[in-house]
Amino acid sequence: MTLAWDVVIVGAGPAGSSAALSALRCLPGARVLLLDREKFPRDKVCGDAVGPRSFHALSALGLESEFTDYQPASRMVLGSRSSHAEHPQRGEFRVVPRRVFDARLVRAAVQAGAVLERRRVRTIESTDEAVMVDGELVAHVVIGADGAESVLRGAMTVTRPRATATAVAIRGYGPTSAPTPRIISQSRDWPAYAWEFPIGDGTSNFGYIDVPRRDRTITKDTLLAGVRELLPGAAERVETWKGHRLPLATARPTLPDGRLLLVGDAACLVNPSSGEGILDALVSGTIAGECAHLGPDAGAAYRRRLREVIGRHQRDAWVGAQLCRVPVLASLGLQMAKVDRRFFDATLELTLGDGHIKPLVTGRALARLGAVRARERLNISRKLT
Ligand SMILES: Cc1cc2nc3c(=O)[nH]c(=O)nc-3n(C[C@H](O)[C@H](O)[C@H](O)COP(=O)(O)OP(=O)(O)OC[C@H]3O[C@@H](n4cnc5c(N)ncnc54)[C@H](O)[C@@H]3O)c2cc1C
Repeated sequence: MTLAWDVVIVGAGPAGSSAALSALRCLPGARVLLLDREKFPRDKVCGDAVGPRSFHALSALGLESEFTDYQPASRMVLGSRSSHAEHPQRGEFRVVPRRVFDARLVRAAVQAGAVLERRRVRTIESTDEAVMVDGELVAHVVIGADGAESVLRGAMTVTRPRATATAVAIRGYGPTSAPTPRIISQSRDWPAYAWEFPIGDGTSNFGYIDVPRRDRTITKDTLLAGVRELLPGAAERVETWKGHRLPLATARPTLPDGRLLLVGDAACLVNPSSGEGILDALVSGTIAGECAHLGPDAGAAYRRRLREVIGRHQRDAWVGAQLCRVPVLASLGLQMAKVDRRFFDATLELTLGDGHIKPLVTGRALARLGAVRARERLNISRKLT
């Protein structure tokens, strides 16, 4: 059998483009085909927030200066309806509309040697020798980077993500109301929060995310009610809201051996403590590209390496998400972030990066909060006497 392609990648979002770039860096001259059903530039429903670790992942692919025309945020606000913590932002946090972000990554992949073709992939067949896409494209290895509703995930007969492990979010653009990016959470559970991420051109990305429960269905109306409650005025500033699902890593499927690899949302890698998915899309795409030349051994090598790189972070992010579902703990965490900058940073690293739960940092923040409260009580009793 003549193999036309070394690697075929289905989907040219951040996961697919980083897979193409990484495969070409590992094996210069490889025949890499990047397929997408859309013509670029195209929109993707997203909060557009790209955190510091994502810029590290982009640097590793040679794209360190690709987004310097977007001003990094200097501060960040984490809050609830009644209280908020605000500190300087550590590392680069930029808000880059996905219409721009994804198109630049695709351009870089094409410049590196990938062939871009517009095609909606419908079928996939894998044998010991090769993989066939749509009954006509033959490849050594196929990487499924086709997003939350992945056709390839379905074809690989891996289990469907549970509804309660799939977040739903809406986003829209409107005039900026505050210059600092802010994440305002519901006190009842997490992740159920609203955001405003200013792009830097006078407009912001506004949105709201929630996770269905057995006793709670999510609709566009419930999401908009969340926006109205947590970001008063935002619902009126935005003309068009668009929604999409986010397959959380809480229910990620066991990835199989062989020549078919799943990356990014197709592999259900979205951070369960926040809904952040660009970083894991970039990281998983990069690792899949590195493993793609291994042919039949690619799947096993990719699964192993992915677990080494993001396994612990994903476990901790899940634990963080569970803890924050207890309102009293979520509120305590916010108070600790207010008084302790290192706890604030650690929270952002866990939710928007690849950080871990840090018991020492947590203990210190708790002690500091206790001291602050004790001082406050002392001051009150002095005033009263
Ligand atoms: C409202 C909302 C807000 C979010 N906010 C953030 C945020 O601020 N920061 C963050 O990090 N993450 C955020 N996320 C998550 C983030 O958008 C995703 O995790 C990320 O886009 C995953 O990248 P990907 O490359 O795996 O998939 P995608 O970006 O979805 O790319 C998949 C690509 O595959 C193509 N495709 C699909 N099916 C086919 C097919 N059959 N044939 C060919 N091509 C196909 C699509 O056209 C698309 O280009 C948000 C998600 C939502 C819904």
